[in-house]
Amino acid sequence: MDDYAIVLNAGSSSLKFCVYRRPEVEAWRLEARGQIEGIGTSPRFSAKDAQDQRLADDGLDRTVNDGRGALDALAAWLRSRYGGARVLGVGHRVVHGGARYAGPTVVTPAVLEDLRALIPLAPLHQPHNLGAIEAVSERLPGVPQVACFDTSFHRGQPAVAELVPLPRDICRAGVQRYGFHGLSYDYIASVLPQVAPEIADGRVIVAHLGSGASLCALKNGRSIDSSLGFTALDGLCMGTRPGAIDPGVILYLFQSLGLSASEVETMLYKKSGLLGISGISNDMRVLLESAEPDARLAVDYFVYRAAREIGGLAAVLGGIDGLVFTAGIGENSAEIRRRISGACSWLGIDLDQDANLRKGPRISRAGSRVSAWVIPTNEELMIARHTGALLGISGPRLMARTTGV
Ligand code: ADP
Repeated sequence: MDDYAIVLNAGSSSLKFCVYRRPEVEAWRLEARGQIEGIGTSPRFSAKDAQDQRLADDGLDRTVNDGRGALDALAAWLRSRYGGARVLGVGHRVVHGGARYAGPTVVTPAVLEDLRALIPLAPLHQPHNLGAIEAVSERLPGVPQVACFDTSFHRGQPAVAELVPLPRDICRAGVQRYGFHGLSYDYIASVLPQVAPEIADGRVIVAHLGSGASLCALKNGRSIDSSLGFTALDGLCMGTRPGAIDPGVILYLFQSLGLSASEVETMLYKKSGLLGISGISNDMRVLLESAEPDARLAVDYFVYRAAREIGGLAAVLGGIDGLVFTAGIGENSAEIRRRISGACSWLGIDLDQDANLRKGPRISRAGSRVSAWVIPTNEELMIARHTGALLGISGPRLMARTTGV
């Protein structure tokens, strides 16, 4: 009988999952990945195998209208496909680990309580992440679960990088810069020694450019600063989020335009960034193909802001040795990589245009003072690795804790 670990990434309207087969020696092997999208509107289940072959793509009953319903639908699919197999552990992406969780942790009732206290710091994500943990513990009570945080990788940054310069009593209540996309940066840092050994121990900026976008300054493989802060709104321009803006604008929205807190929240999380500027789309592909002036302005601003923030983090690092592009835009758009690299040529990046079109991994010329790279991220694999390591189910320290799917 085969043994598996399941990785879950539960959001407000989607439940993403990966199924990994227990490693025989070192590496976790992906068996299937997929998602339930449109939870609450028109739910749809899709799954692919490790070779990207379709395993399922079906509309679901509209009664699948919340996270629990989605987990039930996933469990039914897992039973039909892997019936009789054993689940060794479930790893979860959890957006916020606060100041306390500087690494992944096995979930206990006390941990869950700590994580619930962080809901006000990530109200759009944390409740869904925790809901998935609770639903799994009800359905598979004997199966250990591991929470892997988007914030952990950034713990240990210098005090000035974590500081929000408000009165200290406000900060003591948890207002500090946490940083996000940590699982992505953790993964990139973990593969640098193999993919880009010449910069792995150096000063590297990683640009995670997806629908959420941020930068991380790595020194010796450790995060020393990042562009996302207290929430996932800071820093770079994103698909629907503005990135850094003058906080006075927010006061103006409340005081002069009379918007409510929930209207401002919706504007900041769902209506700004590329979508807000262009008025057309939050999808970089659509904007790059559009001739509309506002679409061009949105792309120009995305590149401008990225170059500006890269300059800032280069100052923090005292210069850089490498720049790594990752995530949806970073991995797939040669045009955006070309434009950001061009704007950073003053740092010493000399792009190799052909390598850039081929997606690298190295996309700078041999003599470039600063090297540039494309490295696909893999947050789910990072979660599987952490889950295996914490539960002692990877590599030689194999220890089966089992329950039927
Ligand atoms: P998420 O944060 O949802 O995980 P991804 O990392 O998958 O996001 O990135 C999604 C974004 O990547 C899409 O919104 C799209 O704008 C962008 N993207 C994907 N492929 C391309 C491409 N070929 N060119 C430009 N942008 C792309």
